[in-house]
Amino acid sequence: MNVVKHTQESPNRIPEIFSSMVFDDHVMKERLPKDTYQALKRTMELGKHLDKSIAATVANAMKDWAVEKGATHFTHWFQPMTGITAEKHDSFISPDGNGGVIMEFGGKELVKGEPDASSFPSGGLRATFEARGYTAWDPSSYAFIKDHTLCIPTVFCSYSGEALDKKTPLLRSMEVINKQALRILRLFGNQDVTRVTATVGPEQEYFLIDRDLFLRRKDLVLCGRTLFGAKPPKGQEMEDHYFGVLKPRVSAFMKELDEELWKLGVFAKTEHNEVAPAQHELAPIYTDTNLATDHNQLTMEIMKKVAAHHNLACLLHEKPFDGVNGSGKHNNWSISTNTGVNLLEPGDSPQENAQFLLFLAAVIKAVDEYQDLLRVSVASASNDHRLGANEAPPAIVSMFLGDELTAILESIEREEIYSRKDQEEMKVGVHILPRFPKDTTDRNRTSPFAFTGNKFEFRMVGSAASISGPNIILNTIVAEELSQFADQLEQSENFELDLAKLIRTTIKEHKRIIFNGNNYSSEWAEEAKRRGLLNLKSTADALAYYIAPKNIELFTKHHIFTAAELKSRYEILSENYCKTLNIEALTAIDMAEREILPAVSRYIQNLSETLLQKREISPAFACRYETETVSKLSALSDSLYQKLLGLKEDLKQAPLIDDPVRRAKFYEGSILADMEDLRRDADELEAITAEEYWPFPNYTRLLYFV
Ligand code: ADP
Ligand code: MG
Repeated sequence: MNVVKHTQESPNRIPEIFSSMVFDDHVMKERLPKDTYQALKRTMELGKHLDKSIAATVANAMKDWAVEKGATHFTHWFQPMTGITAEKHDSFISPDGNGGVIMEFGGKELVKGEPDASSFPSGGLRATFEARGYTAWDPSSYAFIKDHTLCIPTVFCSYSGEALDKKTPLLRSMEVINKQALRILRLFGNQDVTRVTATVGPEQEYFLIDRDLFLRRKDLVLCGRTLFGAKPPKGQEMEDHYFGVLKPRVSAFMKELDEELWKLGVFAKTEHNEVAPAQHELAPIYTDTNLATDHNQLTMEIMKKVAAHHNLACLLHEKPFDGVNGSGKHNNWSISTNTGVNLLEPGDSPQENAQFLLFLAAVIKAVDEYQDLLRVSVASASNDHRLGANEAPPAIVSMFLGDELTAILESIEREEIYSRKDQEEMKVGVHILPRFPKDTTDRNRTSPFAFTGNKFEFRMVGSAASISGPNIILNTIVAEELSQFADQLEQSENFELDLAKLIRTTIKEHKRIIFNGNNYSSEWAEEAKRRGLLNLKSTADALAYYIAPKNIELFTKHHIFTAAELKSRYEILSENYCKTLNIEALTAIDMAEREILPAVSRYIQNLSETLLQKREISPAFACRYETETVSKLSALSDSLYQKLLGLKEDLKQAPLIDDPVRRAKFYEGSILADMEDLRRDADELEAITAEEYWPFPNYTRLLYFV
């Protein structure tokens, strides 16, 4: 396994620890009767229903294995719409009838659980449907042991079958893309492929800061980001952090993190410093979408836990600090066959290339027609600070293909000769496509959706978000286009001709979504507008698109979401957005009123006393520093106080607005703006207040004192 390539000290330990806490294929093979193992494999690979008697055998083997590894409890591990994972622990113990206990775990407990659903967000589903929910085993993701607990990955649904989680629709979307991609492959005469899988490798960015400093800031503890903070003398302008040498504490953190993740079978591969000070990245080796999502959730959880061991705090928020880059999660996405072919990789033969072009055309059409959904899939109060901030992709969705691929598509569209440097001219069609090695696809770091040779990198995803949402959308929209293509081509009497025509018209109709230039420039915003592309700057702007008729149609057609499920997700997104801003506003008020203003007053008092004392010594002392500073501090605190009152007033208005979109708009337009105003005064105060008086650690300490 190529995961085990690098380590400095104990090169031989990794194969031993890798996946050691996972009830994986290897363990299953070893511990399950052969027919049980084979039945389980069929269920995992083909989604076939699992027989009850088999569940009991699997449960027993799982329990024995887990107990041997020191586990005492089990839990159904699920992903409610809070965006984080949930678990409810039960111990294995069961009375043995003689006053003692035995360790027990039955098939029923493996297959189904009944957590109290009422405390998880359901976005109105609870009112409409049965309140209770249940969790059901997802055999396609391996069970694992964490904190002496056997964790069983599960879906979470209401009793009437509505999805209450992030896994159910993801699994549905994987089925749909499998089905539609197989239809296309059959058209190309491909009979040996039986399964097509969407693959994902999410690169995770994060900040590490000192834990003691972290705990002294309410904004970081309660909101995950700083609501105040004057700019430090040094930002990221020296560009000396990216790929820089790791600080010893960070390096120790990464070492432990890797080991903990490896034990859980997470393919943690690359760890390095990122652009901003105190910012880092972890990239795993890609795997199927479901596992990648589970693993990313685990990665985020373990990062926080391991950070605490090193007296560090791991910040996953998209924009913890103003003025330095925020964090994203680059979602590398592709589709592969079970025969090992990456369908987004240009091939060697004309046939492979024609097939590649058709899949590429499907992605182009999908991204163009469902820009709104891609934007919604990454929308959150925290990610709004990042998108469009000249450090992350803009809120405008477009795709980068690189100059060469774009030129090829153009010549296909115009049925023209394509000529490439140092190569013969050729007339490209779906049958003749020049080979373009992966490495020649140039890089564009500003694009929201970039083709990188054999996969797409969706860069708008926020660092704190579950990658489930974006991948549900990606799988579904591409599946939809593939199904349209298949519908047409299956009827065709001249496949080659119609295929060429289909590719040509798709390029013609959807090329507006392709943009290879600088996405940060203001010219692009203008150009995008001319092209009719959406520019949904905030979550409040994007929200309504969730339930646009065309999108409801898409999701219901493919049985990803029912209309009711979509509505519930729309409501949860809007509620989350408003609640997040509400908590931030209350935290800002608390810090300004109970920490900043009193601290500034004390400092004014100190300066005033100094001034009087100095005057007593000699009336001739100018005392310019004291006088001017007291006057500035006093004016600024009054201004800050005024803004505080304004924010409090506006906060009272918010709950009076019923409509989710209007309420979100109000939070964005008024509350967020009030908070920014408040911050401006506070940051000016910070810049002229003696450091020892300032009530919480400043940016210099947070960013540089690890
Ligand atoms: P790059 O140099 O383009 O960043 P890397 O090879 O470093 O490419 O990969 C970046 C991320 O993309 C990694 O997480 C990697 O596993 C993932 N990746 C590579 N190939 C695929 C694929 N076919 N599908 C999904 N993710 C992929
Ligand atoms: Mg990347």
